[in-house]
Amino acid sequence: MTARPAPVSSTLFERAQAVTPGGVNSPVRAFNAVGGTPRFIRSAKGAWLTDVDGNDYVDLICSWGPMLLGHAHPEVQAAIAQAVTRGTSYGTPTEPEVELAEEIVSRTPVEKVRFVSSGTEATMSALRLARGFTGRDIVIKFAGCYHGHVDALLASAGSGLATLAVPGTPGVPASAAGETIVLPYNDRAAVSAAFAEHGDRIACLITEATPGNMGVVPPAPGFNGFLAQTCRDHGALFISDEVMTGFRATREGGWGLDGAVEGWTPDLMTFGKVMGGGFPAAAFGGRADVMSRLAPEGPVYQAGTLSGNPIATTAGLATLRLATPEVYADLSATADTIKSAVVDALTAAGVPHGVQSAGTMFSVFFRDGEVTDFAGASTQDTQAFAAFFHAMLDAGVYLPPSAFESWFVSSAHDERAVSTVLAALPGAARAAAAIGSA
Ligand SMILES: *Cc1c(COP(=O)(O)O)cnc(C)c1O
Repeated sequence: MTARPAPVSSTLFERAQAVTPGGVNSPVRAFNAVGGTPRFIRSAKGAWLTDVDGNDYVDLICSWGPMLLGHAHPEVQAAIAQAVTRGTSYGTPTEPEVELAEEIVSRTPVEKVRFVSSGTEATMSALRLARGFTGRDIVIKFAGCYHGHVDALLASAGSGLATLAVPGTPGVPASAAGETIVLPYNDRAAVSAAFAEHGDRIACLITEATPGNMGVVPPAPGFNGFLAQTCRDHGALFISDEVMTGFRATREGGWGLDGAVEGWTPDLMTFGKVMGGGFPAAAFGGRADVMSRLAPEGPVYQAGTLSGNPIATTAGLATLRLATPEVYADLSATADTIKSAVVDALTAAGVPHGVQSAGTMFSVFFRDGEVTDFAGASTQDTQAFAAFFHAMLDAGVYLPPSAFESWFVSSAHDERAVSTVLAALPGAARAAAAIGSA
């Protein structure tokens, strides 16, 4: 294996560490889980990243989901370039906001939508709205689901199943975590028990439409519908967090995998990533009667200086309009090709593994058997993954640097990009095997 030289990345990383905690502006970008130095990327085009040392990589991060059409898509670039000539922010309503809102309303069950600048803001605001609407405080979430770095959602399970949580990180007050209940994913009995004990105090239950932040862990058949019904039975709101899955898992998002078929709708949904087309844009939306409780129509306050920014909404709108059913069919085919090659390579090398998917999203678990919750995801061989990751990187494939992440493809992942991935897999699988048996 020939490690790619990265002297410029290493120098930049040293400079970055001197002025930024850990040298990165979001922890997932660091290589803490796999060791080594993150590559500093200078440019990207289609399926490819180019680092500051001139190395090319097939990108399987896709900015953690947003780059559905690949990098620097010519039509998205043209829309952005046009928009920039008209100025970059006005602090007034604009036409692209209306058009993007109409596009989202036409493709999802939400009736009204409000734009914000990050997924964290979307879930934070959805929680506030649910609490304001119901007049209740308690929030239920699932272990292993990530909803951004909202205080109430950075909580760890308390001592028992239906008990209130404790802070998941220093800096979160016990009072913020103390209104949250953390339950094991896919566990109907735990959900029923929590509602039986605290039902009339529960404002909402928030879940990823299909969890992708512990690796891809699909809901058991009917699980989301059960959550929606349980919430309704107790006067709580059901919030489906589609920041990752929205316009990514399917054209209709994660909801397209079950809700659209089973006939239920969330009360509120949150979006981000793909809908910003690579810019900081996110949204929350839902039932008109709930959304109408937001200021200035209603009493629940929520605001944002750059919310609905004209460049971001233009990029998001261009991306969503170009994301046709053919694009999703294409993404699925690419994902299938990579998934079966991963299975072949890891099987041949004797590395325990499982590949799980939700629409066009997928991830690889470095353990045998089906993963249905965070406890299961946590039993992976992370050392084997680290060896696999570095062998892939050396062979020109940039994977998410953690065993707990989804792999993302784009419609720009063509024959050349996919064959680079396929060529890298057998050697990476052998590298993982060498660690696993050591
Ligand atoms: C990425 C993500 C968030 C947070 O979005 P940011 O824009 O990073 O704040 C929230 N929920 C889910 C499901 C996500 O994947």
